[in-house]
Amino acid sequence: MDYQSTRNAKIAASSTAAVLQGLAGDGGLFITKDFGTFDWRGTLESDTFGMAEKILGALLPDFDDMRALVRRAYTGKFETDELTPLVRVGDRYVLELFRGPTSAFKDVALSMLPQLITAARAQEGVRDEILILTATSGDTGKAALAGFCDVPGTKIIVFYPDAGVSKVQKAQMVTQEGENVCVCAVRGNFDDTQTGVKKIFAAGLPEGCGVRLSSANSINIGRLAPQVVYYFKAYADLLHAGRIAVGDKVDYVVPTGNFGDILAGYLAKKMGLPVGRLICASNRNDVLTDFLRTGVYDRRRPFYKTLSPSMDILVSSNLERLLFLLCEDENEVAGYMRDLNEKGAYTVSDTMLEKLHAEFGCGCCDDAQTKETIGRVWSQNGYLMDTHTAVAWKVAEDYKTDAPVVVLSTASPYKFPAAVLSAIGGDASGDEFDIMDRLHALTGVPVPEGLATLRSKPVRHTDVIDREDMQKYVLGKVEKWK
Ligand SMILES: *Cc1c(COP(=O)(O)O)cnc(C)c1O
Repeated sequence: MDYQSTRNAKIAASSTAAVLQGLAGDGGLFITKDFGTFDWRGTLESDTFGMAEKILGALLPDFDDMRALVRRAYTGKFETDELTPLVRVGDRYVLELFRGPTSAFKDVALSMLPQLITAARAQEGVRDEILILTATSGDTGKAALAGFCDVPGTKIIVFYPDAGVSKVQKAQMVTQEGENVCVCAVRGNFDDTQTGVKKIFAAGLPEGCGVRLSSANSINIGRLAPQVVYYFKAYADLLHAGRIAVGDKVDYVVPTGNFGDILAGYLAKKMGLPVGRLICASNRNDVLTDFLRTGVYDRRRPFYKTLSPSMDILVSSNLERLLFLLCEDENEVAGYMRDLNEKGAYTVSDTMLEKLHAEFGCGCCDDAQTKETIGRVWSQNGYLMDTHTAVAWKVAEDYKTDAPVVVLSTASPYKFPAAVLSAIGGDASGDEFDIMDRLHALTGVPVPEGLATLRSKPVRHTDVIDREDMQKYVLGKVEKWK
């Protein structure tokens, strides 16, 4: 299986090279047209680790020892070896993706990505150390730090806006252990921080410094592929519980931001899994809902800050991969992306819109509905969900289907404790750690270990810099590591 750019068939790469490079040279994303034949039925009989080994082995065939990489990535890191348990709530199912070390669904991919990057580095004969550079508005930073912590051959620097993350998110990052990790606050907002990181990528590092830059966000196919596994896992769980027979269709509802999670569901379908419809759930930032209904993607609209911040996004990068998979025409995709860049909008062909309607559903949910949903599901079903999951749950309620419905749950309720506590009628004033304690006292739902022990952990990272100094800061670190 070979990878190519979504915008140019001549830019091709093996799966190891694609993981190492991240983004294709022309700004496109690496993707494949050829999903071969995959024994999806046989895969349903494996345990989660076995499934991961088979699915990742098929999607990324150039890696020498996927079995070892999967074991190194996941052994002992999650609350359960199942990794992603499926829970029945009312007449739907919640797929809990947040049982990893940082209580966010990004752990599933960011536990695996470092293993893929270091294996690719060795196989491609790269001598340089890999420096992961990330700007974070909260969850990605901590999950990346946990994933890359003490992985040989890698370093990681995470920049966060000093006034832009929650107290708990900040505590998660500044207490991070590991010899190869570095966390630094930037005076400014998330956009300033992200712009700073993009500038460093554009400028590159000095020739011969022994370090090369890489990114941990979901433009990397190595971050997308591990997410395909839990679509299979949920299907297998329904099968083994006798809820479905092999071949029955299952619908998945996905709280969506950058379109990585839901695209992984589409890849699972391409590999043969009987996925029915993929339902894209958005918050008040409903650019994707509009797109999936009308075929017009228009990012020229107001940006809202919501209670589900990880979905506050106007340009969903991974949508480009879906467009490619639907038309298999790099020139068509390149045209859409040009329009997006130059005009801020594009309109897909009628053929493409028909295909989108056949495969995808969509819906959105505002903050008031989000809170109402959390409160209602707690009082009726005794299940406590976070704000992102609640968006998907509400969209699932509004959506009519005869198939079993799996709602993907992307964060622990304790990651957004104030919104969750007030949604179930508690007093959410004051310190975020106290709010967590009150949420626990009121619900009895266990606090994930990584969050419960946070308050007493020593702070290890105290750097604060101006945004103009980000590049100097990185170069200083590179110099020191020599
Ligand atoms: C990142 C994230 C999402 C969005 O996932 P995408 O792959 O970007 O669509 C949803 N919920 C939470 C909690 C997240 O951290």
